[in-house]
Amino acid sequence: MATAGKVIKCRAAVAWEPKAPLVMEEIEVAPPQEGEVRIKILYTSLCHTDLFHLLESTDNKGFPTILGHEAAGVVESVGPGVTEFKPGDKVIPNSGCQCRECKFCKSPKTNLCERSWVNDHIEFMSYPKTSFTCRGKPILQFTNTGTLAEYIVIRQIYVVKIDDDAPLDRVCLLGCGVTTGYGAAVNSAGVTPGSVCAVFGLGAVGLAAVMGCKNAGASRIFAVDINEKKFEKAKVFGATDFLNPQAYNKPISEVLIEMTNGGVDFSLECVGNTEVSRHALESCAKGWGLSVLVGYTNTDFSSKPIQLIYGKTWKGTLLGGFKIKDGVPKLVRDYMSGKIMLDEFITHRMNLEQVNDVVKLMKTGQCIRCILDMSK
Ligand code: NAD
Ligand code: ZN
Ligand code: ZN
Repeated sequence: MATAGKVIKCRAAVAWEPKAPLVMEEIEVAPPQEGEVRIKILYTSLCHTDLFHLLESTDNKGFPTILGHEAAGVVESVGPGVTEFKPGDKVIPNSGCQCRECKFCKSPKTNLCERSWVNDHIEFMSYPKTSFTCRGKPILQFTNTGTLAEYIVIRQIYVVKIDDDAPLDRVCLLGCGVTTGYGAAVNSAGVTPGSVCAVFGLGAVGLAAVMGCKNAGASRIFAVDINEKKFEKAKVFGATDFLNPQAYNKPISEVLIEMTNGGVDFSLECVGNTEVSRHALESCAKGWGLSVLVGYTNTDFSSKPIQLIYGKTWKGTLLGGFKIKDGVPKLVRDYMSGKIMLDEFITHRMNLEQVNDVVKLMKTGQCIRCILDMSK
Protein backbone atom coordinates (compact mmCIF):
# COMPACT_ATOMS: atom_id res chain seq x y z
CA MET A 1 0.00 0.00 0.00
CA ALA A 2 1.49 3.30 -1.13
CA THR A 3 -0.18 5.16 1.73
CA ALA A 4 0.79 2.78 4.59
CA GLY A 5 2.75 4.51 7.35
CA LYS A 6 2.05 7.98 5.91
CA VAL A 7 -0.38 10.74 6.81
CA ILE A 8 -3.37 10.67 4.42
CA LYS A 9 -5.01 13.90 3.29
CA CYS A 10 -8.67 13.41 2.44
CA ARG A 11 -12.15 14.99 2.50
CA ALA A 12 -14.36 15.14 5.57
CA ALA A 13 -17.43 17.02 6.81
CA VAL A 14 -16.33 18.85 9.97
CA ALA A 15 -18.70 20.01 12.73
CA TRP A 16 -16.73 23.02 14.00
CA GLU A 17 -19.41 24.02 16.53
CA PRO A 18 -22.89 23.01 17.67
CA LYS A 19 -25.96 24.08 15.68
CA ALA A 20 -23.93 25.15 12.63
CA PRO A 21 -23.82 23.47 9.19
CA LEU A 22 -21.07 20.90 8.64
CA VAL A 23 -18.15 22.22 6.57
CA MET A 24 -16.39 20.23 3.84
CA GLU A 25 -12.65 20.34 4.61
CA GLU A 26 -9.41 18.66 3.71
CA ILE A 27 -8.20 16.84 6.82
CA GLU A 28 -5.09 14.86 7.76
CA VAL A 29 -5.48 11.32 9.07
CA ALA A 30 -2.49 9.97 11.00
CA PRO A 31 -1.12 6.47 10.33
CA PRO A 32 -2.47 3.76 12.67
CA GLN A 33 -0.56 3.28 15.95
CA GLU A 34 -0.22 0.14 18.12
CA GLY A 35 -3.45 -1.88 17.99
CA GLU A 36 -5.13 0.49 15.53
CA VAL A 37 -6.39 0.08 11.95
CA ARG A 38 -6.90 2.71 9.27
CA ILE A 39 -10.09 2.20 7.27
CA LYS A 40 -11.14 3.66 3.93
CA ILE A 41 -14.80 4.48 4.50
CA LEU A 42 -16.91 3.59 1.46
CA TYR A 43 -20.46 4.11 2.70
CA THR A 44 -21.88 5.84 5.75
CA SER A 45 -25.19 7.14 7.08
CA LEU A 46 -26.27 9.46 9.88
CA CYS A 47 -28.06 8.31 13.04
CA HIS A 48 -30.17 10.44 15.35
CA THR A 49 -27.32 10.43 17.92
CA ASP A 50 -25.17 12.42 15.45
CA LEU A 51 -28.03 14.90 15.05
CA PHE A 52 -28.54 15.11 18.80
CA HIS A 53 -24.89 16.07 19.32
CA LEU A 54 -24.89 18.59 16.49
CA LEU A 55 -28.25 20.21 17.08
CA GLU A 56 -28.85 19.88 20.81
CA SER A 57 -25.43 20.28 22.43
CA THR A 58 -25.55 23.21 24.82
CA ASP A 59 -21.80 23.90 24.95
CA ASN A 60 -18.67 23.41 22.85
CA LYS A 61 -17.56 20.25 24.67
CA GLY A 62 -17.15 17.55 22.07
CA PHE A 63 -16.34 20.03 19.25
CA PRO A 64 -14.81 20.39 16.71
CA THR A 65 -15.67 16.87 15.70
CA ILE A 66 -16.36 14.65 12.73
CA LEU A 67 -19.75 12.99 13.11
CA GLY A 68 -20.86 9.65 11.65
CA HIS A 69 -20.75 6.18 13.20
CA GLU A 70 -22.74 3.89 10.88
CA ALA A 71 -20.37 2.86 8.10
CA ALA A 72 -18.59 0.16 6.17
CA GLY A 73 -15.27 0.16 4.37
CA VAL A 74 -12.01 -1.65 3.73
CA VAL A 75 -8.85 -1.77 5.82
CA GLU A 76 -6.17 0.47 4.25
CA SER A 77 -3.34 -0.34 6.68
CA VAL A 78 -2.78 -1.68 10.19
CA GLY A 79 -0.59 -0.57 13.09
CA PRO A 80 1.90 -2.70 15.07
CA GLY A 81 0.36 -5.58 17.02
CA VAL A 82 -2.72 -5.91 14.82
CA THR A 83 -3.26 -9.57 13.99
CA GLU A 84 -7.00 -9.70 13.35
CA PHE A 85 -7.03 -7.49 10.21
CA LYS A 86 -5.05 -7.02 7.01
CA PRO A 87 -5.31 -4.45 4.20
CA GLY A 88 -8.30 -5.13 1.95
CA ASP A 89 -10.50 -6.72 4.65
CA LYS A 90 -14.14 -5.61 4.53
CA VAL A 91 -15.08 -4.16 7.88
CA ILE A 92 -17.68 -2.30 9.92
CA PRO A 93 -16.25 0.13 12.50
CA ASN A 94 -18.38 0.53 15.60
CA SER A 95 -18.88 2.97 18.45
CA GLY A 96 -18.94 0.02 20.85
CA CYS A 97 -16.07 -2.39 21.42
CA GLN A 98 -15.32 -5.94 22.48
CA CYS A 99 -11.81 -6.53 23.85
CA ARG A 100 -12.70 -10.12 24.86
CA GLU A 101 -10.50 -9.76 27.96
CA CYS A 102 -12.28 -7.54 30.51
CA LYS A 103 -14.82 -8.69 33.10
CA PHE A 104 -17.72 -7.34 30.99
CA CYS A 105 -16.54 -9.00 27.77
CA LYS A 106 -16.13 -12.28 29.69
CA SER A 107 -19.69 -12.07 31.05
CA PRO A 108 -22.59 -13.21 28.87
CA LYS A 109 -24.82 -10.73 30.73
CA THR A 110 -23.67 -7.54 29.01
CA ASN A 111 -22.12 -6.05 25.89
CA LEU A 112 -20.33 -3.29 27.80
CA CYS A 113 -16.53 -3.33 27.62
CA GLU A 114 -14.19 -1.87 30.21
CA ARG A 115 -12.06 -0.31 27.48
CA SER A 116 -14.85 1.68 25.80
CA TRP A 117 -14.71 5.49 25.50
CA VAL A 118 -18.27 5.52 26.91
CA ASN A 119 -16.95 4.76 30.41
CA ASP A 120 -14.92 7.94 30.91
CA HIS A 121 -15.62 10.36 28.07
CA ILE A 122 -19.39 10.52 27.61
CA GLU A 123 -19.21 14.33 28.09
CA PHE A 124 -17.19 14.68 24.89
CA MET A 125 -18.91 11.78 23.10
CA SER A 126 -15.43 10.57 22.03
CA TYR A 127 -11.93 9.89 23.29
CA PRO A 128 -9.97 13.11 23.77
CA LYS A 129 -7.22 11.54 21.60
CA THR A 130 -7.88 11.63 17.86
CA SER A 131 -6.12 10.80 14.60
CA PHE A 132 -7.75 13.70 12.70
CA THR A 133 -6.34 17.22 12.25
CA CYS A 134 -7.63 20.08 10.15
CA ARG A 135 -6.19 23.59 9.72
CA GLY A 136 -3.61 22.71 12.39
CA LYS A 137 -6.23 21.75 15.02
CA PRO A 138 -7.12 18.31 16.40
CA ILE A 139 -10.65 17.26 15.39
CA LEU A 140 -12.47 14.72 17.58
CA GLN A 141 -13.85 11.43 16.24
CA PHE A 142 -17.50 11.39 17.32
CA THR A 143 -18.23 8.21 19.32
CA ASN A 144 -14.66 7.14 18.52
CA THR A 145 -15.50 6.71 14.83
CA GLY A 146 -16.04 9.88 12.75
CA THR A 147 -17.15 8.22 9.53
CA LEU A 148 -18.02 11.44 7.68
CA ALA A 149 -14.33 11.27 6.69
CA GLU A 150 -12.89 9.26 3.80
CA TYR A 151 -10.41 7.58 6.17
CA ILE A 152 -10.56 6.91 9.90
CA VAL A 153 -8.15 5.39 12.41
CA ILE A 154 -9.75 3.22 15.07
CA ARG A 155 -8.63 0.66 17.67
CA GLN A 156 -9.05 -2.90 16.47
CA ILE A 157 -11.33 -3.78 19.40
CA TYR A 158 -13.96 -1.51 17.74
CA VAL A 159 -13.82 -3.14 14.32
CA VAL A 160 -15.60 -6.22 12.96
CA LYS A 161 -14.54 -8.17 9.89
CA ILE A 162 -17.42 -9.19 7.64
CA ASP A 163 -17.88 -11.60 4.73
CA ASP A 164 -16.16 -10.61 1.46
CA ASP A 165 -19.42 -10.79 -0.50
CA ALA A 166 -21.37 -8.51 1.89
CA PRO A 167 -22.80 -5.44 0.09
CA LEU A 168 -21.19 -2.55 1.95
CA ASP A 169 -23.72 0.01 0.71
CA ARG A 170 -26.36 -1.73 2.83
CA VAL A 171 -24.64 -3.56 5.67
CA CYS A 172 -23.16 -0.21 6.76
CA LEU A 173 -26.51 0.25 8.55
CA LEU A 174 -25.48 -2.49 10.97
CA GLY A 175 -22.89 -0.11 12.45
CA CYS A 176 -25.49 1.30 14.84
CA GLY A 177 -29.21 1.99 14.37
CA VAL A 178 -30.55 -1.27 12.97
CA THR A 179 -28.35 -3.38 15.23
CA THR A 180 -29.52 -1.34 18.22
CA GLY A 181 -33.25 -1.50 17.54
CA TYR A 182 -33.25 -5.14 16.49
CA GLY A 183 -31.15 -6.19 19.49
CA ALA A 184 -33.29 -4.10 21.85
CA ALA A 185 -36.19 -6.40 20.95
CA VAL A 186 -34.49 -9.79 20.58
CA ASN A 187 -31.76 -9.42 23.24
CA SER A 188 -32.58 -6.70 25.77
CA ALA A 189 -36.35 -7.17 25.90
CA GLY A 190 -36.20 -10.85 25.02
CA VAL A 191 -39.54 -10.60 23.20
CA THR A 192 -41.36 -13.94 23.42
CA PRO A 193 -43.62 -15.69 20.87
CA GLY A 194 -47.25 -14.60 21.05
CA SER A 195 -46.49 -11.46 23.06
CA VAL A 196 -47.95 -7.97 22.59
CA CYS A 197 -45.38 -5.22 21.95
CA ALA A 198 -45.37 -1.44 21.52
CA VAL A 199 -42.59 0.46 19.79
CA PHE A 200 -42.41 4.23 20.37
CA GLY A 201 -40.62 6.18 17.62
CA LEU A 202 -40.38 4.84 14.08
CA GLY A 203 -36.99 6.02 12.85
CA ALA A 204 -34.49 3.34 11.80
CA VAL A 205 -34.01 2.28 15.43
CA GLY A 206 -37.74 1.89 16.11
CA LEU A 207 -38.41 0.17 12.77
CA ALA A 208 -35.60 -2.28 13.53
CA ALA A 209 -37.21 -2.88 16.93
CA VAL A 210 -40.51 -3.64 15.14
CA MET A 211 -38.59 -6.11 12.93
CA GLY A 212 -37.07 -7.70 16.05
CA CYS A 213 -40.49 -8.07 17.72
CA LYS A 214 -41.87 -9.66 14.56
CA ASN A 215 -38.92 -12.07 14.16
CA ALA A 216 -39.24 -13.05 17.84
CA GLY A 217 -42.85 -14.06 17.17
CA ALA A 218 -44.88 -11.20 18.71
CA SER A 219 -48.58 -11.55 17.87
CA ARG A 220 -49.42 -7.85 17.97
CA ILE A 221 -47.03 -4.91 17.47
CA PHE A 222 -48.23 -1.36 18.13
CA ALA A 223 -46.26 1.27 16.20
CA VAL A 224 -46.43 4.66 17.94
CA ASP A 225 -45.26 7.91 16.32
CA ILE A 226 -46.42 11.52 16.07
CA ASN A 227 -45.48 11.45 12.36
CA GLU A 228 -48.15 9.30 10.70
CA LYS A 229 -46.10 9.10 7.50
CA LYS A 230 -43.96 6.52 9.33
CA PHE A 231 -46.83 4.03 9.66
CA GLU A 232 -46.56 2.66 6.13
CA LYS A 233 -42.93 1.62 6.70
CA ALA A 234 -43.73 0.20 10.11
CA LYS A 235 -46.26 -2.10 8.42
CA VAL A 236 -43.52 -3.36 6.09
CA PHE A 237 -41.45 -4.35 9.13
CA GLY A 238 -44.37 -6.15 10.79
CA ALA A 239 -46.37 -3.64 12.87
CA THR A 240 -50.05 -4.53 13.20
CA ASP A 241 -51.54 -1.43 14.91
CA PHE A 242 -50.69 2.26 14.46
CA LEU A 243 -51.12 5.04 17.01
CA ASN A 244 -50.49 8.78 16.91
CA PRO A 245 -50.39 10.01 20.55
CA GLN A 246 -51.48 13.47 19.39
CA ALA A 247 -54.79 12.08 18.11
CA TYR A 248 -55.97 11.27 21.67
CA ASN A 249 -56.98 13.54 24.53
CA LYS A 250 -55.47 11.21 27.13
CA PRO A 251 -51.98 9.78 27.63
CA ILE A 252 -51.03 7.15 25.06
CA SER A 253 -50.22 4.74 27.92
CA GLU A 254 -53.89 4.78 28.95
CA VAL A 255 -54.95 4.21 25.35
CA LEU A 256 -52.63 1.21 25.08
CA ILE A 257 -53.76 -0.24 28.42
CA GLU A 258 -57.39 -0.06 27.26
CA MET A 259 -56.67 -1.50 23.83
CA THR A 260 -54.74 -4.46 25.25
CA ASN A 261 -56.89 -5.19 28.28
CA GLY A 262 -54.22 -4.28 30.83
CA GLY A 263 -51.03 -3.29 28.99
CA VAL A 264 -48.39 -4.62 26.63
CA ASP A 265 -45.87 -7.33 27.48
CA PHE A 266 -42.93 -5.39 26.02
CA SER A 267 -42.45 -1.74 25.12
CA LEU A 268 -39.45 -0.10 23.48
CA GLU A 269 -38.73 3.63 23.61
CA CYS A 270 -36.86 4.59 20.41
CA VAL A 271 -37.35 8.38 20.46
CA GLY A 272 -34.94 9.86 23.00
CA ASN A 273 -37.62 11.77 24.96
CA THR A 274 -38.05 11.19 28.69
CA GLU A 275 -41.81 11.86 28.61
CA VAL A 276 -42.13 9.14 25.99
CA SER A 277 -39.98 6.81 28.15
CA ARG A 278 -42.46 7.29 30.95
CA HIS A 279 -45.42 6.46 28.71
CA ALA A 280 -43.56 3.43 27.39
CA LEU A 281 -43.12 2.09 30.94
CA GLU A 282 -46.66 2.96 31.98
CA SER A 283 -48.08 1.16 28.89
CA CYS A 284 -46.74 -2.13 30.21
CA ALA A 285 -48.82 -4.85 31.88
CA LYS A 286 -48.63 -5.13 35.67
CA GLY A 287 -46.82 -8.20 36.95
CA TRP A 288 -44.45 -8.78 34.04
CA GLY A 289 -44.40 -5.90 31.55
CA LEU A 290 -40.89 -4.86 30.51
CA SER A 291 -39.88 -1.55 28.97
CA VAL A 292 -36.56 -1.00 27.20
CA LEU A 293 -35.15 2.50 26.94
CA VAL A 294 -33.25 2.84 23.67
CA GLY A 295 -33.54 6.55 22.80
CA TYR A 296 -30.66 8.72 23.97
CA THR A 297 -30.93 12.08 25.69
CA ASN A 298 -29.20 13.59 28.71
CA THR A 299 -32.13 14.75 30.87
CA ASP A 300 -33.52 12.96 33.95
CA PHE A 301 -36.46 10.60 33.57
CA SER A 302 -39.15 9.67 36.08
CA SER A 303 -42.31 7.75 36.86
CA LYS A 304 -44.16 6.75 40.06
CA PRO A 305 -42.53 4.00 42.18
CA ILE A 306 -45.79 2.02 42.09
CA GLN A 307 -45.07 1.28 38.43
CA LEU A 308 -42.07 -0.82 39.42
CA ILE A 309 -43.57 -2.04 42.70
CA TYR A 310 -46.34 -3.55 40.59
CA GLY A 311 -43.76 -5.73 38.93
CA LYS A 312 -42.90 -3.85 35.77
CA THR A 313 -39.25 -3.75 34.71
CA TRP A 314 -37.47 -0.71 33.26
CA LYS A 315 -34.13 -1.27 31.58
CA GLY A 316 -31.91 0.28 28.94
CA THR A 317 -29.79 -0.99 26.11
CA LEU A 318 -26.54 0.01 24.46
CA LEU A 319 -26.30 -1.14 20.83
CA GLY A 320 -29.10 -3.60 21.40
CA GLY A 321 -27.03 -5.72 23.75
CA PHE A 322 -24.90 -7.16 20.93
CA LYS A 323 -21.24 -7.85 21.67
CA ILE A 324 -20.04 -6.36 18.41
CA LYS A 325 -17.45 -8.91 17.24
CA ASP A 326 -19.84 -11.80 17.87
CA GLY A 327 -23.08 -10.07 16.87
CA VAL A 328 -22.48 -7.81 13.87
CA PRO A 329 -20.92 -10.38 11.46
CA LYS A 330 -23.83 -12.69 12.29
CA LEU A 331 -26.34 -9.93 11.50
CA VAL A 332 -24.58 -9.40 8.15
CA ARG A 333 -25.13 -13.10 7.39
CA ASP A 334 -28.75 -12.85 8.62
CA TYR A 335 -29.27 -10.06 6.08
CA MET A 336 -27.69 -12.07 3.28
CA SER A 337 -29.85 -15.10 4.07
CA GLY A 338 -33.02 -12.99 4.17
CA LYS A 339 -33.66 -13.27 7.93
CA ILE A 340 -33.48 -9.51 8.46
CA MET A 341 -34.30 -6.59 6.15
CA LEU A 342 -31.94 -3.68 5.45
CA ASP A 343 -32.87 -2.28 2.03
CA GLU A 344 -36.24 -1.12 3.39
CA PHE A 345 -34.54 1.34 5.78
CA ILE A 346 -32.86 3.20 2.92
CA THR A 347 -34.98 6.10 1.70
CA HIS A 348 -32.21 8.24 0.15
CA ARG A 349 -28.75 7.91 -1.43
CA MET A 350 -26.44 10.93 -1.73
CA ASN A 351 -22.78 11.94 -1.59
CA LEU A 352 -20.73 13.49 1.21
CA GLU A 353 -21.08 17.05 -0.14
CA GLN A 354 -24.85 16.76 0.40
CA VAL A 355 -24.56 15.89 4.10
CA ASN A 356 -26.26 19.09 5.30
CA ASP A 357 -29.30 18.16 3.19
CA VAL A 358 -29.39 14.82 5.00
CA VAL A 359 -29.36 16.60 8.37
CA LYS A 360 -32.37 18.65 7.23
CA LEU A 361 -34.24 15.62 5.88
CA MET A 362 -33.71 13.69 9.13
CA LYS A 363 -34.61 16.65 11.30
CA THR A 364 -37.90 17.08 9.47
CA GLY A 365 -38.75 13.36 9.57
CA GLN A 366 -38.52 12.86 5.80
CA CYS A 367 -35.70 10.35 5.83
CA ILE A 368 -35.26 7.00 7.59
CA ARG A 369 -31.68 6.44 6.46
CA CYS A 370 -29.64 8.10 3.69
CA ILE A 371 -26.57 6.21 2.48
CA LEU A 372 -23.68 8.52 1.58
CA ASP A 373 -21.42 7.14 -1.15
CA MET A 374 -17.97 8.36 -0.10
CA SER A 375 -16.44 7.69 -3.52
CA LYS A 376 -18.53 10.43 -5.17
P1 NAD B 1 -35.09 9.24 14.22
O1 NAD B 1 -35.01 10.69 14.49
O2 NAD B 1 -34.91 8.76 12.82
O3 NAD B 1 -36.52 8.67 14.72
C1 NAD B 1 -37.19 9.13 15.87
C2 NAD B 1 -38.69 8.95 15.66
O4 NAD B 1 -39.37 9.34 16.85
C3 NAD B 1 -39.27 9.82 14.54
O5 NAD B 1 -40.03 9.01 13.64
C4 NAD B 1 -40.15 10.83 15.27
O6 NAD B 1 -41.28 11.25 14.50
C5 NAD B 1 -40.55 10.02 16.49
N1 NAD B 1 -41.03 10.84 17.61
C6 NAD B 1 -40.61 12.07 18.01
N2 NAD B 1 -41.30 12.47 19.09
C7 NAD B 1 -42.17 11.49 19.39
C8 NAD B 1 -43.16 11.32 20.40
N3 NAD B 1 -43.37 12.26 21.31
N4 NAD B 1 -43.88 10.18 20.42
C9 NAD B 1 -43.68 9.21 19.47
N5 NAD B 1 -42.76 9.31 18.50
C10 NAD B 1 -42.01 10.44 18.45
O7 NAD B 1 -34.05 8.54 15.21
P2 NAD B 1 -33.26 7.13 15.16
O8 NAD B 1 -32.02 7.28 14.37
O9 NAD B 1 -34.22 6.04 14.84
O10 NAD B 1 -32.82 7.03 16.70
C11 NAD B 1 -33.81 6.91 17.73
C12 NAD B 1 -33.19 7.08 19.11
O11 NAD B 1 -32.30 6.01 19.41
C13 NAD B 1 -32.36 8.37 19.27
O12 NAD B 1 -32.63 8.92 20.55
C14 NAD B 1 -30.93 7.86 19.22
O13 NAD B 1 -30.04 8.74 19.88
C15 NAD B 1 -31.10 6.55 19.95
N6 NAD B 1 -30.03 5.56 19.76
C16 NAD B 1 -29.64 4.86 20.85
C17 NAD B 1 -28.68 3.88 20.75
C18 NAD B 1 -28.31 3.03 21.92
O14 NAD B 1 -27.29 2.33 21.86
N7 NAD B 1 -29.09 3.03 22.98
C19 NAD B 1 -28.08 3.63 19.50
C20 NAD B 1 -28.53 4.34 18.38
C21 NAD B 1 -29.50 5.32 18.53
ZN1 ZN C 1 -13.81 -5.74 27.10
ZN1 ZN D 1 -26.17 5.62 16.34
